[in-house]
Amino acid sequence: MSDIIKILPSDVSNKIAAGEVVQRPSSVLKELIENSIDAKSTRIQIIIKDAGKNLIQVIDNGKGMSKNDMHLSFIKHATSKISKIEDIFSISSMGFRGEALAAISSVSMLEMESINDNQNGHFIEINGGELLREKDSNIQEGTSVKIKNIFYNVPARRNFLKSDFVELRHILDVFHRLAISHPEIEFSFINNEEEIFYLKEESLNKRIISIFGEKIRENLIPIHESTQIANISGFVLKPEFSKKSRSNQFIFVNNRFIKSQFINHSISASYDGLLKDGYYPGYFLFIEIDPTKIDVNVHPNKTEIKFDDDQNLYSIINSSVKHCLGIYQVSPVLDFDKDPSMDISYDQVKSQPTSPNIEINSDFNPFKVFNDEEVNKISDDHLTPINKLNLDNDSNQALKIFQILNKFIVSTNKSSLIIINQNLAHQRILYESFLKSIFENSVNSQKLVFPIELSLTKKQLLLYNKIIDEFKSIGFEIIVNNELMLVESIPFGIEKNNVEEVIENILNENFNTSNDFSASDFFAKRLSKITSIKSGQKLNSVEQEYIVNHLFSCKEPNLSPDNKQIFITLNKNDIENKFNG
Ligand code: ADP
Ligand code: MG
Repeated sequence: MSDIIKILPSDVSNKIAAGEVVQRPSSVLKELIENSIDAKSTRIQIIIKDAGKNLIQVIDNGKGMSKNDMHLSFIKHATSKISKIEDIFSISSMGFRGEALAAISSVSMLEMESINDNQNGHFIEINGGELLREKDSNIQEGTSVKIKNIFYNVPARRNFLKSDFVELRHILDVFHRLAISHPEIEFSFINNEEEIFYLKEESLNKRIISIFGEKIRENLIPIHESTQIANISGFVLKPEFSKKSRSNQFIFVNNRFIKSQFINHSISASYDGLLKDGYYPGYFLFIEIDPTKIDVNVHPNKTEIKFDDDQNLYSIINSSVKHCLGIYQVSPVLDFDKDPSMDISYDQVKSQPTSPNIEINSDFNPFKVFNDEEVNKISDDHLTPINKLNLDNDSNQALKIFQILNKFIVSTNKSSLIIINQNLAHQRILYESFLKSIFENSVNSQKLVFPIELSLTKKQLLLYNKIIDEFKSIGFEIIVNNELMLVESIPFGIEKNNVEEVIENILNENFNTSNDFSASDFFAKRLSKITSIKSGQKLNSVEQEYIVNHLFSCKEPNLSPDNKQIFITLNKNDIENKFNG
């Protein structure tokens, strides 16, 4: 057999390497800003068009490059940051593998201008890794790198890019992380011709406030701890400011953003007893640690990191967070939110229920908008209750449906027992109905007598603008004025006092990009999750029936929007086996 092994041409190998370094516009932005930071810039301007799909430009006032260095910068493993292997262990710059520009230029159209040491400025243009054109430039200081048409020559990857909303979300994440870890740098961020961030050189707490809005100011608790293993600084957020998502969690090691489950865990454990279930604390934690005590052999794009001494680090972080929460005398927030299932007096718990027909406290009725009349109306509208499962309703008896453990609804059909998870079932019902109104544009909303006023961060506002249509299509009527949002109408099915949470949750949500959903799908999923009845809520018989009927009229009654099993069935054999086995 003839030889079959070939060395790949460098443009092919660069494209393959690009797959590791450049996953999406936000990874390009990260590399470019990091290069500007490494070049000691004090001012960085970012210009984005179409969520970075058509333009990502970073302009800095750093030390710039000579004409020769500009040429070299596109060659793989060309770096000014290390020259011998030992350097890797003491590296403090952001990049050092000399891969980023080679990789980025191989999958995009790139233009770079730079000037250094009073030489003349120079301009080069590179398409797909090939030098296309170069000339003098009259750039006055630093470097400007323009990436146009990312992945223009790798259509499979270009098609893989998500909606502008999702890509912009990633870009803003990258921007936030770098802007927070470099408050000494002035940043401007222009998106589709509009300056959405102008951050002047400032202190860390001011930087956090500039990015996340005034509301965060009074919630910042400073943290400081010096130990032999590590120094901890930054801010943790008061428990009241915790969120249902992890969007306010930032950890930096040696000023580099990282993700770490065990550090998250250690901090969350410090908040023990202070947080409502399902809420996550927020923090901006900076850990300084001897670089030889961490594993630096990680991919530049990966944010995971390994510590030699993670057990001690865990305790140090845990106790320093506890300490600073203690200093600020944050006492446990016991009735953070009233849980209806806890709202039973001791006597009631002890006494036997006399009637199976449980009434629930109407203040906590999750179906407030679904009074009986409406329930019937909805069933008549477009649902054929029950028949899909052929539930047993012979001999004119009412369906035997009841709730157990405040969590499951039990029903039967001819031969089986069906146990339904009420929360997942309701999510499915709401999800399909939200999707339906989005697609059919059949708005179903209620006007509020007193509009609800919310103040938004710039990032939230930006994301809101991307999904205005979805908001409208499900029944929100919203006016935005500067950073104030005035909610005038809300969809049926959403409680007034949930509105802030619903909107914040949607605008803060981290997308799970492995799921290829559209904005509408995402929207319907989030809404159904937030507004669904939860485990622990008592349901009256109308509500129980509502769940059963509507669930089995859904297109996909088996699985929740997140693909969890909604109900189980026990048939005759299953039951008999329990007795015989
Ligand atoms: P790395 O950052 O790992 O060295 P890159 O491919 O990102 O590799 O960059 C290659 C080299 O190009 C850098 O080492 C640096 O010398 C130079 N360079 C890139 N961007 C800039 C910039 N904005 N200002 C000055 N020099 C830069
Ligand atoms: Mg770099």
